[in-house]
Amino acid sequence: MAATESQKYLSTRGGDYGLSFETVVLKGLAADGGLFLPHEVPIAEDWQSWKDLSYKELAFKIFSLYISSSEIPPDDLKAIIDRSYSTFRADDVTPLINVEDNLYLLELFHGPSYSFKDCALQFLGNLFEYLLVRKNQGKQGKDRHHLTVVGATSGDTGSAAIYGLRGKKDVSVTILHPKDRVSPIQEAQMTTCIDRNVHNLAIRGTFDDCQDIVKALFNDPDSNKTLKLGAVNSINFSRILAQIVFYFYAYFSLARKSPSFKVGDKVRFVTPTGNFGNILAGFFATKMGLPADKLVVATNENDILHRFWTTGRYEKDPVHGCKETYSPAMDILVSSNFERLLWFLAKEHAVTTGKDDQSSKKQASADIVAWYQSLKSTGGFGPVHKDILENGRLTFESDRVSNSETVETIRSCYKQTKYILDPHTAVGITVAKRSLARTSGHIQHISLSTAHPAKFSEVVTSALKDEAGFNFEEQVLPDELKALSSKETRVTTVDNSWEAVREIVKSQTEEDLQAESSG
Ligand SMILES: *Cc1c(COP(=O)(O)O)cnc(C)c1O
Repeated sequence: MAATESQKYLSTRGGDYGLSFETVVLKGLAADGGLFLPHEVPIAEDWQSWKDLSYKELAFKIFSLYISSSEIPPDDLKAIIDRSYSTFRADDVTPLINVEDNLYLLELFHGPSYSFKDCALQFLGNLFEYLLVRKNQGKQGKDRHHLTVVGATSGDTGSAAIYGLRGKKDVSVTILHPKDRVSPIQEAQMTTCIDRNVHNLAIRGTFDDCQDIVKALFNDPDSNKTLKLGAVNSINFSRILAQIVFYFYAYFSLARKSPSFKVGDKVRFVTPTGNFGNILAGFFATKMGLPADKLVVATNENDILHRFWTTGRYEKDPVHGCKETYSPAMDILVSSNFERLLWFLAKEHAVTTGKDDQSSKKQASADIVAWYQSLKSTGGFGPVHKDILENGRLTFESDRVSNSETVETIRSCYKQTKYILDPHTAVGITVAKRSLARTSGHIQHISLSTAHPAKFSEVVTSALKDEAGFNFEEQVLPDELKALSSKETRVTTVDNSWEAVREIVKSQTEEDLQAESSG
């Protein structure tokens, strides 16, 4: 069957149209610097009939709307989904937990690395392998398309990427982390993966140094000539796609759990946000037809998104830069996926001025190019047209949470319910409680829980140390994570030099290729 409009992809900056899903997954970022989007978001006419599907069945329904069966046959797609979500510790993959009246938590941390990023990266790892093995059928040695994934991490992304790619054919993965600057658990999660194709580099430098090294490699002609570099950061569209499932699954779980909630009713989602990936998936879900009263953006003190929804201006914080907070996976200066939402809002605005679909898309890309030029040269843009902001506010609300409020929420939630929140989830719950108060308890809220509290032991322990009987090792730390400290590790310490990293990546890839050819 020919691909539908929702199964063909374009770049937000207008340089590409009509791309296949495979191209989008393997490239990650468009050549013009834009991000990939489907030509259209598919309307799920029959979404209500998905009510009793399992997580995997639901994922299949949703993914099929974005991936043509001529690209990935249905049985293959089912097998990829099955492999990706069989690694989760919870039978229902993402359980929904009742916290208090009208407030539910969607636990997204039951994957191998204990953060929500597994839900997308397990899928991406299996997709990479499927697409590469197919490309390489009958090819030998140098003719094989071998993907070298290089990424920088301050913790969560690295371990999720490693767990997603370990042992996969035709892929090598090198993750750079700042030496002695990631938490001991996160470091152990990465360095105890001793699979042949996994390479951990501890850089003598900061997280920013690691990111600069990765950028330098992607811009380096020599690296691009000898390696096929791949990225796993949150700009890969397949990661957004995987996360759409959360919102539908949470919604149907709520309908099963809450007698007063019927399929068709509106719910509020609250999502702790950094790069705007997870909550953008919520936006896709609403465009597909899921009834949401609002999607609430929850930021920490790095609040560029909250400031946008308040003022219509998108601007790096000129005074503070990027702050180090208690929820480090949300410490960002700009949110890369926000470009995707802005494209939709600009396009919808162009339609209201009488332009047809084709010219509205062109206008949206022109707006994006101008805005991002201004962001680059002056550190910000806007305010955007008031109709654009108003249209966005029909779907989105936002709020900001400080470090002290984060700790207070971990403490008060424990006192009331004995449930232990990680600091990112606590940002979400703080925002959800304020939203509950604003809506006078008339609307059910689902807040997304993005990490297991064991990953952020320092903040959790300092929040709860005075609570009677609290014991981190016993109450929080899972056996599997306790066992990490006695496992064999492999890591190479490297100076802060991108040329040094390049030589290591080249020789590691060469070794992986040879090992693979000799079986
Ligand atoms: C990555 C991450 C986030 C932020 O998600 P985005 O998709 O970038 O908005 C929030 N919490 C945790 C624990 C994370 O690892």
